[in-house]
Amino acid sequence: MKLQRILALTTALLLLCGFQSLNASDAHLYRISLQGHGTAVELAQAGIDILAAIPNDHALAELSDEQMSRVIRLGYQVEYLAASLVAYSELDETDDYYSYASLVAQLQTWANQYANIAVLYDLATTVQNRHVYGMKISDNPLSEEDEIVNFFVGCHHGNEKISEEVPMYFLNYILSNYGTNPDVTFWVDNREIWVIPLVNPDGFFNNNRYNANNVDINRNYSFHWGQSASNYGPYPFSEVETQAVRNLNLAHHFTTAHSYHSYGEEILYPFAWAANHPSPDNPFFVEMTNAMAAYNGYTPMLSGNLYPHGGEMNDYLYGEKGVFGCTSEVWGGPGYNPPASQIAAVCQENLPTDLYQLQRSGGAQITGRITDATTGLPLVAQFKVVQLWNPNEIYPRYSEPTFGRYRHLLVPATYTLEVSKAGYATQTIPNLVVVANTPTVRDVALVFVGYPNIDIVLTPVNPPIVIPAGGGSFSYNVNIHNGESTSQSFAAWIMAELPSGTMLGPLLGPVNLTLASGATLLRTRNQSVPGSAPSGVYTYIGYVGAYPDAKYDSSYFNFTKSAADNGSSWVNDFANTGEPFEVDQMAQSPAQFALLRNFPNPFNASTTIRFQLPEASLVKLDVYDVSGRWVSTLVDGWREAGSHEVAFDGSNLASGVYIYYLTAGQFNASGKMVLMK
Ligand SMILES: [Zn+2]
Repeated sequence: MKLQRILALTTALLLLCGFQSLNASDAHLYRISLQGHGTAVELAQAGIDILAAIPNDHALAELSDEQMSRVIRLGYQVEYLAASLVAYSELDETDDYYSYASLVAQLQTWANQYANIAVLYDLATTVQNRHVYGMKISDNPLSEEDEIVNFFVGCHHGNEKISEEVPMYFLNYILSNYGTNPDVTFWVDNREIWVIPLVNPDGFFNNNRYNANNVDINRNYSFHWGQSASNYGPYPFSEVETQAVRNLNLAHHFTTAHSYHSYGEEILYPFAWAANHPSPDNPFFVEMTNAMAAYNGYTPMLSGNLYPHGGEMNDYLYGEKGVFGCTSEVWGGPGYNPPASQIAAVCQENLPTDLYQLQRSGGAQITGRITDATTGLPLVAQFKVVQLWNPNEIYPRYSEPTFGRYRHLLVPATYTLEVSKAGYATQTIPNLVVVANTPTVRDVALVFVGYPNIDIVLTPVNPPIVIPAGGGSFSYNVNIHNGESTSQSFAAWIMAELPSGTMLGPLLGPVNLTLASGATLLRTRNQSVPGSAPSGVYTYIGYVGAYPDAKYDSSYFNFTKSAADNGSSWVNDFANTGEPFEVDQMAQSPAQFALLRNFPNPFNASTTIRFQLPEASLVKLDVYDVSGRWVSTLVDGWREAGSHEVAFDGSNLASGVYIYYLTAGQFNASGKMVLMK
């Protein structure tokens, strides 16, 4: 009865609005009531792509007719809002907002006016030939200093125009108060502040949530990518906008991040990819977002509890890179953008949350520099706050390369720090007391003790190798041996030194391998050399170790390119093919999950199991005997997208049938293998 009434109401509304086309595949914008019934989490889990939500009030989504009836069957009341999100966003009166042109002009004016503390960088050119600009504010803005890095970003979603106004207001506040306001002066002198006020200029220009490729760029980051309903892009970081954020962090190593969106008056912290799924650093995130919310009355919450969405920026920055970030959904609605009279108020209520991040990032934490005890040089080493470390949830954290700086923001308590690096003795430092407002500083000098005994030998087939002017290829054998008494995990990769001395590559890898004690891996590979490659003698080098700087062993041979290309190349690139040793990481990710047959099979006493991941995934690979008894776990943790192979050593097992069982994300598969001694 009630359901029929809603359907009738919706149909009436649809008719009233008089569309040109009304076929089943058309999606329109609806407001879904959450008053007294349901949650946006439930809707997202039912496959609805949520665009905005306020708990216990409403959610916004574009629904096809099929989706709308699904939502209604779940007991929700829906209200037609507009033909599309774009049409709805155009109802917002944003004439008094920055345009793309006026925003760029303002940034350039500031860069000239405050050249002593501000530099403007063009970080990316978009599909429609606009630019993603980032402004760095610091004393000595042209040099990379050993300082805390705070990142602020607006407008991942182009229709959320207020989300560029807020960081522009923040920029103006910092720039115009330097030298007069003591807090601002301190932060500029002791922080590196990076602001991308408008990360999606095409979407902004077109008043569209998505970029010009129709991708939701806040679903295009790699962490749990593809777990949203739609518009996450063909593969992680397929878009120049997300590449710009990724590359900026890889170069400068953010400490904190603050991403602006509208609307809902919420402050969202990781994880976003699942509901009711706090991160290992939840106590810190709760502390930070509660402190921010105290300034503006917004609601702090786990991002996934608003509605789960994969591939989100803060999940990526935190989950993969250890950056402590959150998202503010500014403005309470209705509509995505406040009227002109409210812009200043929305900017003002968010300013203190940015200033809080500048302050807090210098507060309670463990930090220091990791160096080589002999040379004193900075090291990129893994650091763990042991009490918070969970390899099933997050990626390893590393010190940055320029200063060896590591930093982990924490709530006050007592912690244990562990610092490790291949070839160095691990150091465990217990009883590190972290107190409020002050960093606990602990520098760590690691002692080099030598690398494990892993050998690599590259042997060319049919030497000497001479590549004709138009390009060609050669074959070679790779032999990798684990001479240690225990199983070893390491990387293998191949580089080429050009006649000029420049290093090219990796041409293969780095591929992650695990070899049982005494095991040997043999593969034949083919290497293409393009016609455009310069003439002269090349050195082709294989490495095993911890990529890129810890080289346990290497092996090389030479080849000659006979002459420079005369303009009619037979071969166009440095493709590396052959027996699946592991895939080239530069190759695109596989399209789907797959568990491949082990090889050889039957085997004695070692075999290799291969699997493919279209996205970075939490992987478990177990081996059982025929009666279902667990034998061993070969993989347990995060693996990158790509093809993977794992060696299985049956030398201590009886002959017979064994089952291997793979779970990767939502994917399950099993295979059978026969050990014959
Ligand atoms: Zn948004």
